[in-house]
Amino acid sequence: MKLCKAHWDKLVEAIQADGLGELVPPGPLEFARRRHSRMEGAVTVDNFDPVAIANDLISIWAANGLRPRDLQWLIGSCPICYFDMPQWIEKASHDSGELWQKIRSA
Ligand SMILES: [Zn+2]
Repeated sequence: MKLCKAHWDKLVEAIQADGLGELVPPGPLEFARRRHSRMEGAVTVDNFDPVAIANDLISIWAANGLRPRDLQWLIGSCPICYFDMPQWIEKASHDSGELWQKIRSA
């Protein structure tokens, strides 16, 4: 599942509004490095990516709401559009910020 362009842009805006913009990876190489590092283990100060983490949260919430007949949807649709849950954007950005506070002070 993948956010549509409109909702992806809204998510990036929310991350900026929550003051997490400076934590966004500066380019595709750094994006990939952090992603790989997160897959190897825990989320840390060194591999944090607020947009990617917010996006993962939305995917988890969407997966929790899935019914068997929704399975075909997993392939291509935007979970925010599909479930009509625009409020997930604010919540994901907020939770991503809370996670950052937690790992930063750990
Ligand atoms: Zn969408």
